Amino acid sequence: MTATRLQKSIGINEADIKIVNKNSYHYETTWLHEASAGTLHHNRVLYDIAGVIDRNKVEFVQGTVERIVPEENRVLLGDGELSYDYLVVALGSEAETFGIKGMKEHAFSIVNVNAARKIREHIESQFSAYNKEEVKNEERLTIVVGGAGFTGIEFIGELANRIPELCDEYQIPREKVKIICVEAAPTILPGFDPELVKYAISRLEKKGVTFMIGTAVKEATPEGIIVGKDEEQLFEIKARTVVWAAGVRGNSVIDKSGFEALRGRVKVSPDLRAPGYDNVFVIGDAALIINKDTNRPYPPTAQIAMQQGIVCAHNLLALIRGEKEELKAFEPDIKGTVCSLGEDDAIGVVYGKKIKGTIASIMKKVIDNRALFMIGGLSLVLKKGKFKFV
Ligand code: NAD
Repeated sequence: MTATRLQKSIGINEADIKIVNKNSYHYETTWLHEASAGTLHHNRVLYDIAGVIDRNKVEFVQGTVERIVPEENRVLLGDGELSYDYLVVALGSEAETFGIKGMKEHAFSIVNVNAARKIREHIESQFSAYNKEEVKNEERLTIVVGGAGFTGIEFIGELANRIPELCDEYQIPREKVKIICVEAAPTILPGFDPELVKYAISRLEKKGVTFMIGTAVKEATPEGIIVGKDEEQLFEIKARTVVWAAGVRGNSVIDKSGFEALRGRVKVSPDLRAPGYDNVFVIGDAALIINKDTNRPYPPTAQIAMQQGIVCAHNLLALIRGEKEELKAFEPDIKGTVCSLGEDDAIGVVYGKKIKGTIASIMKKVIDNRALFMIGGLSLVLKKGKFKFV
């Protein structure tokens, strides 16, 4: 967002702009749950960076950022390094395991395109193996999702639609398949509107999802997970597929680079700069801003990240042009939240109004298409957008 905004306003010789990314493509993080469940092909959630940048103004460098040395204005890549006058850190987030034993080794996380593809392939391979084996192993058909935040619920919504298709393909009775969602809080989607939460539970339960609320995941094992309401009443759920969706933290490069951070998120100044470094902006999931009304950090959402990209581009331009007084303070403009429950259903609060069902699902697709439009205009929407509205 920063690069595409900057290229619109900056003169050809006004600055040397480089955008560094480890893949040649950018992916819509907010669509990964669909690729993971197999309801959307993984190629649909990504697009070439080269296709959205103006090569006369921005150079694309494919490389992996290993560490930033902010006191020396250097970015160390896996292969080489870059120096800078101004830096924008927009490295996103990683799955947070809270140090839970076995989670990194035995559970999947919906973190990037390859991870999403692995989840889809793994689930399909379990169905295929079950179909072929003489002595049926029911654990192959148990899928556990740890965490019922937006990611967990959106993934389960897609999965609930995908399972009947898989059952058809591999001739497996639907009732053999278990989708279990384990949530530590007393409700799914903690903090969201209770009436809409009730609607989500009833719709997903009808599609065969089991919710274990107020139950924490304590450990992941090669056979499944260990859960419990308290330390004394732990029990094991045997499952061949465990997907961990219990929250995110900022990219670990932030910690490695010595920035002052909380779970990988840098508490930035109102104009989005890192404390102590006037030439470093941190935006997106790696940035932490406190909501003064609640005294809690704003959640790491795409909506906020994209808005920060716009303000960051504006502030960079002001600095480059020596107009320090023109720096803007970032104020999130939260238009609402929509949580999909599969391709055909959703819940949401938009401009303070509750929506659910088809209308919410259409709204979700409008939001998804808008995100594409803001980066790559109409041509990107036509290439990758979502048009199946009913
Ligand atoms: P989250 O932090 O929003 O939800 C994680 C859930 O996991 C919480 O409900 C938490 O209680 C639960 N949990 C934590 N530890 C647990 C444990 N040991 N056992 C069982 N449950 C446990 O994380 P997320 O869903 O990954 O979302 C990350 C961010 O992205 C959030 O800010 C979210 O709002 C945003 N997001 C938004 C959308 C949307 O707007 N549609 C979609 C996806 C994500």
